[in-house]
Amino acid sequence: MRIAIVGCGIVGAAIAYELSRVSGFEITVFETENPASGSTGAALGVLMGAISQKKPKSRAWKLREASLRRYETLIPELEAKLDRPIPRNDNGVLKLCFPGENLEKWEKLAQVRREQGFPLEIWSPEAVKSRYPKIETAAIAAAVYSPQDRQIQPIPLARALVEAARGHGVRFVFGATVMEAEIETGETRCCRTLIYKDANDETRQHSTDWVVVSAGLGSTPFSQRLREPVTIQPVLGQAIELAIALPSEYPVVTANDVHLVSVGEGRAWVGATVEFPDAKGYVIPDPRGLQMLKSEAMRFYPELVEAAIARQWQGLRPRPVDRSAPVIGTLPGYDNVVLATGHYRNGVLLAPATAEAVCMLLLNNHSAI
Ligand SMILES: Cc1cc2nc3c(=O)[nH]c(=O)nc-3n(C[C@H](O)[C@H](O)[C@H](O)COP(=O)(O)OP(=O)(O)OC[C@H]3O[C@@H](n4cnc5c(N)ncnc54)[C@H](O)[C@@H]3O)c2cc1C
Repeated sequence: MRIAIVGCGIVGAAIAYELSRVSGFEITVFETENPASGSTGAALGVLMGAISQKKPKSRAWKLREASLRRYETLIPELEAKLDRPIPRNDNGVLKLCFPGENLEKWEKLAQVRREQGFPLEIWSPEAVKSRYPKIETAAIAAAVYSPQDRQIQPIPLARALVEAARGHGVRFVFGATVMEAEIETGETRCCRTLIYKDANDETRQHSTDWVVVSAGLGSTPFSQRLREPVTIQPVLGQAIELAIALPSEYPVVTANDVHLVSVGEGRAWVGATVEFPDAKGYVIPDPRGLQMLKSEAMRFYPELVEAAIARQWQGLRPRPVDRSAPVIGTLPGYDNVVLATGHYRNGVLLAPATAEAVCMLLLNNHSAI
């Protein structure tokens, strides 16, 4: 069975790898630029799984749980195949809670997560101080520590997935934008031919049995061509890299939706702003955004005052409009087009679960082709 994947961010790369583990699939991935050149290239890679306030039976939690479990096997699997580490912070996630925060809600979540096998710990400010003395605790009421959440660097992860998938026979076509899709109509519609422009600007055709759309923001124009528009809006995020060495045992620290991540080699990342488009759909970065990030992080990690900004960047998160993130499933009205898009703020977290879901969907429909 031939499968064409449109878009090679973290989601497309994870799908390509997961499908490549199944025999009988002939997989081709099309990407306008290089792997992780879209939203993925800007992500901090913080995986807020167990520590997220999601109800146990909700789809949002099931996806998080599946990803948490798959990451446990995926990382060693990739590292063994490629014989190199994927840079990450495995020290857990520590969320600082301020007066006014509903701590009872966190106590309840800790109980639920314990039963699910993802224990959370609720710490006093003194307990935080004794473990991590560099964190300023004067203003906090408590903290929630999640040992099983982590951070992973999205670009090396996406590249590792591509390399491992290529080793399993997946064909990647970089510098190739899928421009059109031929629609076959019958009782339901079908798309068996993609038309793309290759790196030399030549127009080419590709025949396929299935199309997986993991094109992030590019999913909107692509779905419009299939006459079933899925609207994904850009939500801008700015982030900074600071020249500072945090102690190697420090977890990801998060407070008021700002994350501080030690990435080693004398560097820490702080992010990210959340900036919505204006009424005309334009997203213009707030010039105060970077300073706001640094000031906010300095409130809980005062040593940052000395740290120079070594790098700054921004990216656009793909957020579905009028439906919850992410969008995973067949495109309405089509037999053979699968959407895996609109992961908004959690694409790195949810990529493994998305890949498993797409894999299951294709396996269940294998006989239909
Ligand atoms: C500042 C910032 C911080 C973030 N931090 C985190 C975080 O800590 N944790 C987390 O889980 N998530 C985070 N995110 C969100 C995360 O980056 C996204 O959810 C995720 O990257 C989405 O992945 P994707 O593969 O769907 O999209 P993308 O990475 O955007 O990939 C889509 C790809 O499709 C390609 N494409 C589009 N159209 C076509 C076409 N027609 N033909 C061929 N190729 C096409 C694009 O070139 C692109 O490479 C953050 C995002 C930002 C901006």
